[in-house]
Amino acid sequence: MTINEMNFAGKKAIVRVDFNVPLNENGQITDDTRIRGAVPTLKKVLADGGALIIMSHMGKPKGKVNPKMSLGQIKDAVAAALGVSEVKFAPDCAKADEQAAALKMGEVLLLENLRFYPEEEGKPVGIDKADPAYDEAKKEMKGRQKDFAKKLASYADCYIMDAFGTAHRKHASTAVIADSFDADHKMLGYLMEKEVAAVDNVLSNIKRPFVAIMGGSKVSTKIGIIENLLGKVDRLILCGGMTYTFMKAHGGEIGNSIVEEDKLDVALSVEELAKKNGVELVLGTDSVCGDSFSNDAKQLVCPSNAIPAGWEGLDIGPDTREAFRNAIKGAKTILWNGPAGVFEFDNFAAGSRVVGEAVAEATEEGAFSLIGGGDSVACVNKFGLADRVSYISTGGGALLEAIEGKVLPGVAAIRG
Ligand code: AMP
Repeated sequence: MTINEMNFAGKKAIVRVDFNVPLNENGQITDDTRIRGAVPTLKKVLADGGALIIMSHMGKPKGKVNPKMSLGQIKDAVAAALGVSEVKFAPDCAKADEQAAALKMGEVLLLENLRFYPEEEGKPVGIDKADPAYDEAKKEMKGRQKDFAKKLASYADCYIMDAFGTAHRKHASTAVIADSFDADHKMLGYLMEKEVAAVDNVLSNIKRPFVAIMGGSKVSTKIGIIENLLGKVDRLILCGGMTYTFMKAHGGEIGNSIVEEDKLDVALSVEELAKKNGVELVLGTDSVCGDSFSNDAKQLVCPSNAIPAGWEGLDIGPDTREAFRNAIKGAKTILWNGPAGVFEFDNFAAGSRVVGEAVAEATEEGAFSLIGGGDSVACVNKFGLADRVSYISTGGGALLEAIEGKVLPGVAAIRG
């Protein structure tokens, strides 16, 4: 079933969304992108004459109630986004039977943070993986996860999965719940459909040259996708903090720059694989360094493999900016994940801005550009480039796993 085919008149739909929005210390939303992302799906249910039961996680409460991560704080913002006068709130998402049963068509019920329950993630709490009793505890928790998912399912007539950001997790609300609905009563939401189509567009219809830009802080968290991309792309630009692990692997001096000493061999094997696959690997040659990790640090431009003691590389230097600009120019497919430097500091954001502008220019010349992962999205927004790229994904880990070619549990649960 697709969401467009479904008529929700007279039906209660339970919808998994990603309302994991950032809040300030007063509990106010500082960026409502994720709420807006879910609106088309939610409005379709209401416009058809159905009722909504909305569920989401927020933050990492690790299976315990934490008022700072209560979804109650955002219910009025959800009402405003949907254009309804009230969103009802269920403070205990495992005991919402009565509220769900009483829900009238056109009404909206928001469940409390799913991750207040360890059953949502299905991981045993308070027991170490090394503990001999761990396996047994995990089995027991998986059983509880199934019961929790059944409970959530019992509130509604149909299920919509629209939380791309968590679609790579096999959680009660993102995947297990789908077992309680037949194929005619479960579907992906509009956001999920769009995200899956964007990934398909990149993977099945690769127009060359295909250039990937991987930045961010560490190589260790991205090695899976980097290795995978080396089988797909023509050119791979590696930037951000991981640069210094590569420099160090070749005996370079990197001062206080961020480095993963235990990943030097990984850096060398990435270079080997690139050579073997005929992929052009583009690394920065110069850096803008700071004498501390702060926006106001003194600056020094120097070769990335000859950074003096007391300095750390915080952005790409002018030669590298030029080299990256040229490496992106003429691309026909572009994937960008992770900034080129510490873009949160305005004084070290120039490199990430150049990368963003080069991606926008290539897009204007006909490239399909896919931007994903929280930080690169923040970068694109910060530089006002959002309208000049092809697609901005709401997913970080989910996007990378999808690009790796893995079937996301949240998609498999619906499509089989
Ligand atoms: P990730 O979550 O791995 O994509 O990393 C994103 C973070 O990497 C951003 O917060 C950047 O500030 C950080 N980053 C980028 N370049 C550097 C660098 N040269 N040194 C330290 N952190 C960096």
